[in-house]
Amino acid sequence: MKKEPFVTNEQLTELVKQFPTPFHLYDEKGIRANVQAVKEAFSWNRGYREYFAVKAEPNPFIIRILNEYGCGCDCSSMTELMLSDALGIRGEQIMFSSNDTPPEEFQYADRLGAIINLDDITHIDFLEQTIGKIPETISCRYNPGGVYEVSNGIMDNPQDAKYGFTKEQLFEGYRILKQKGAKRFGLHSFLVSNTVTNDYYPALAKTLFELAVEIKEKLDITISFINLSGGVGVAYRPEEQPNDIRAIGEGVHKVFDEILVPAGLGDVAVFTEMGRFMTGPYGCLVTKAVHEKHTYKEYIGVDACAANLMRPAMYGAYHHITVMGKEDAPCDHKYDIVGSLCENNDKFAVDRMLPEIEKGDLLVIHDTGAHGFAMGYNYNGRLWSAEVLLKEDGTSELIRRAQTPKDYFATFDCFDILKDMKYDET
Ligand SMILES: *Cc1c(COP(=O)(O)O)cnc(C)c1O
Repeated sequence: MKKEPFVTNEQLTELVKQFPTPFHLYDEKGIRANVQAVKEAFSWNRGYREYFAVKAEPNPFIIRILNEYGCGCDCSSMTELMLSDALGIRGEQIMFSSNDTPPEEFQYADRLGAIINLDDITHIDFLEQTIGKIPETISCRYNPGGVYEVSNGIMDNPQDAKYGFTKEQLFEGYRILKQKGAKRFGLHSFLVSNTVTNDYYPALAKTLFELAVEIKEKLDITISFINLSGGVGVAYRPEEQPNDIRAIGEGVHKVFDEILVPAGLGDVAVFTEMGRFMTGPYGCLVTKAVHEKHTYKEYIGVDACAANLMRPAMYGAYHHITVMGKEDAPCDHKYDIVGSLCENNDKFAVDRMLPEIEKGDLLVIHDTGAHGFAMGYNYNGRLWSAEVLLKEDGTSELIRRAQTPKDYFATFDCFDILKDMKYDET
């Protein structure tokens, strides 16, 4: 599918007068249409809820939009819980799916009334000692081990993943939790990341639904909710076919009717914890070409760097790039598009065929709406960019300002680093 930016060249030319590059731009209209489609795709399930994976895009403005459609928050750290709390998203609207969890985070999650999703059998005792009880509602994360294959080569290796209970531990865990007073049980699993196929959720649902039936038969424990977690992917490459959430919802519906309904488990609520699918395609990184360099290769130096978008540097991930105003020009130049970090992997694209780029051209790096800004870091003292929301009516709003040197140095409590500096804030 041809990848087109959600913003026009005219709009962007206006935006950069107001917001200096680089910045992440988000598409409110796209986010709303998508969350509405997600809601409809699972409307057949009475208890359905999407818990937005806050780590994907921890911005209160974005989370609030999703919450309007009933989305809760999937949190796994103190500050993610704080963000949810600050937005008034509390109680069973929070899924606390953490691992290697510090005690104070279990305490805070419990105070908020969050659903706690345990990552390990030893956390049963740890939780009980930490909060003085076992909550009535509790969930466990399952890791089947081995290799998990969905379809045509889409697979991962749960055996190498640090998460979850083994099957034996899971059965033992539920038995212990029931004995300690738990009354409502959840089952969770996350087996493959960024799946660009409509088959992943249905395949995972089948695995978990069959397991829920087995748990009922062997332990006489009724699972109340099954959490398919994240992993629904984004078509980052133009040759990929984007996932169809309606087909995914129908696929889960089908196995639900085949497996859970006949087993008397037709009241089970289906939960999801999607991050990438909820916001990934509805964000982009806007950056400007600053330098061109001709050595053994052709380089375009832009004003963003891997500190603003780590995925290409970290995973060699593909992010599509549009040179604004040259959407229909032939892609007859081969470039490495690079940032300024003193790290040779700071490249948004390698050997990418693009139209001829001139200094001052605006580049849109696509699909940065999830795990984009959020994975930012401060290496080389590079600062976080701003985040801007392009609203439905075409106006824009700054939803996070850019970091300043003052922010960057703020943790030197015992050394006022800015005091004797000749740096001018303007
Ligand atoms: C990261 C994560 C998610 C979201 O994953 P996506 O790939 O962004 O959908 C959901 N649940 C848990 C526990 C996670 O760690």
